[in-house]
Amino acid sequence: MENFSLGIDLGGTKIATCIIDNNGNIFARVEMPTLAKEGPEKVISRMKKSVYDVLSQINLSLNEIAGIGIGVPGPIDVEKGTIQNPPNLPGWKDIPLCSIMFREFNTKIIIENDANSAALGEFLFGAGKGVKNFIYITISTGIGAGIFIDGKLFKGIGRNAGEVGHMTINFEGPICGCTNSGCWEAYASGTALSRFAKEGILSGIKTKIIEKARNEEITAEHVFSAARKGDNFALTLVENEGYYLGVGLANLINIFNPGLIAIGGGLTQCWDMFYSKMMKTIKERSLPANLKHLEIVKAKLDKDAGAIGAASLAFL
Ligand SMILES: [Zn+2]
Repeated sequence: MENFSLGIDLGGTKIATCIIDNNGNIFARVEMPTLAKEGPEKVISRMKKSVYDVLSQINLSLNEIAGIGIGVPGPIDVEKGTIQNPPNLPGWKDIPLCSIMFREFNTKIIIENDANSAALGEFLFGAGKGVKNFIYITISTGIGAGIFIDGKLFKGIGRNAGEVGHMTINFEGPICGCTNSGCWEAYASGTALSRFAKEGILSGIKTKIIEKARNEEITAEHVFSAARKGDNFALTLVENEGYYLGVGLANLINIFNPGLIAIGGGLTQCWDMFYSKMMKTIKERSLPANLKHLEIVKAKLDKDAGAIGAASLAFL
């Protein structure tokens, strides 16, 4: 069996591609912007380029790898190898990604929901190693999860389980990218955080977030960086982030009674700023019995979890 495998993590903002060995060690890595607004054709050609780029970094040929695993935003059809219509990838509808990539590379191609891939990375090689009842949550453009029950990734009948970002938190809340209203990710994702910032600014609140963003579109990162400078409005937004996260996590804790929850994704870069509010909310809202054996940690593989997990699919 080949000792190397290639993984692509296709996100709403970036494409991360890496080559790992069967212990999860990274040997080559590239990252490029997704530029999702340009549509599927251009994004796929960037994905192809990222494959050639990582291979050439360590002078590896396609027949020296076990295959290519791709973590993609759901919903997906694993049997057909298609990406259906992810809210974070505008213009994508029933794109046969597996066959497109197979035509290019002529090697084993496997696609998996992006959160499941990252969860698999954390389960096999990261924070969740050896934990049988484990939930991995990723908070970035959206919110996703991979849920392990008794040592197995819970996939659901159509392999789209774990879409925790779309559980309803508020009956009449804001409209989510999935068209439902009041979803968890409409409150606690990076997209939501930047939306709350914009709404505040439009209502006349004075904040350093505007200086941080200059003429760019306001992002969650601008909010964090203003919060680190002590900006009151940004601090309130980050505190609310901890609250919203805590509410959703308490729901999951009550349903699944996990032993460990690892949280990854871009928003964990302000982990220290929302951690205590998140934990306080979790303690207030979870059943005490379900908190007894629970540990909550920051994910270990950081931004590489998705690509490492995707690559590990080709070994399975
Ligand atoms: Zn939703």
